[in-house]
Amino acid sequence: MAYEFNHYYELQNVATGKYVNVLGNHEDGTVKNGETVNLFNRTNNPDQRWALENYGGNGNVRIVLQRGEGWYALNYNTRNANCIVWHLNTADDIDTVIAAVQVESLTDTYYLKLRDRDTYLTADGTALKWAAYTGEKEQMFTILEPGTSSDGSDSGADSDTPDSKLVTKFIPAYKDNYTKSRKAQGGTISEITIHHCASILTIEALGALWQREGRKGSSHYGISETNIGQYVHERDVAWTNGNWEANCRAVTIETSNSGGAPEWPVSDTTFQTLVTLVADIARRNDLGKLVKGKNLTWHSMYATTACPGPYLSGKLQELVDKANTINGF
Ligand SMILES: [Zn+2]
Repeated sequence: MAYEFNHYYELQNVATGKYVNVLGNHEDGTVKNGETVNLFNRTNNPDQRWALENYGGNGNVRIVLQRGEGWYALNYNTRNANCIVWHLNTADDIDTVIAAVQVESLTDTYYLKLRDRDTYLTADGTALKWAAYTGEKEQMFTILEPGTSSDGSDSGADSDTPDSKLVTKFIPAYKDNYTKSRKAQGGTISEITIHHCASILTIEALGALWQREGRKGSSHYGISETNIGQYVHERDVAWTNGNWEANCRAVTIETSNSGGAPEWPVSDTTFQTLVTLVADIARRNDLGKLVKGKNLTWHSMYATTACPGPYLSGKLQELVDKANTINGF
């Protein structure tokens, strides 16, 4: 089997070279039942990232995308046989269970057959329909690591290229607000440290703080609603934890609040985005199963501070559990 379960991929149609994409504006973090899935040029956007979720073995899967409140699966529009998404919890098996059948001659390429309806995901221009089997390239989809296609849109060499494909925007911190090369400091990544902003901030506003000369602080990431900012590369040491050794070990995340003292709440959407990013960092850095207080840490473990605040502190076990589920632990 060429793909792993519960891992984000891009799905590229062989005939058109375009990518499976859920339409609509999802900046508020919500996807709606029945939204159309089409083919589009590669955007490096979460609306084109799909996980294959095991469904009882035998190559049967559900193909899902996570945004905001939950998981949305590729689904069948009973009116016109178009491809749509539907919340996994309220979707019928008949409309979502897909047999991924490998195309013999092409690496990592599959026919995606809606098992119970005996129809295949098919490109029709830039539309996606479920249609009878033809065996043509319109029905072949290549499963790709995000950003690895040969369309030349992702060089990987740019120093402003984010470490995580989930990042909305890379805003480099001022050079004297972090330390270059974790390796040169003898550090290796072994944990993720959670912070809250003690403020309601956009990722741009947080980036502006880290760009300020003399700030003497930074973080690798910042999250606000569905947006993820990156400010310092994971290979460099961000100054976030108020503890040099911990900084040398940690990838750090600042989380925007949705309200103020004393609870310092965080919105559900921001929390879901945090779950997704934590899972991604853990997977790429081989952190294994996350354990609260071991490889998932928080600011007040290392410094005299109320950070990450009462609300987020009470959600850390949920964060660990959900990220572990995404990574298959
Ligand atoms: Zn903090």
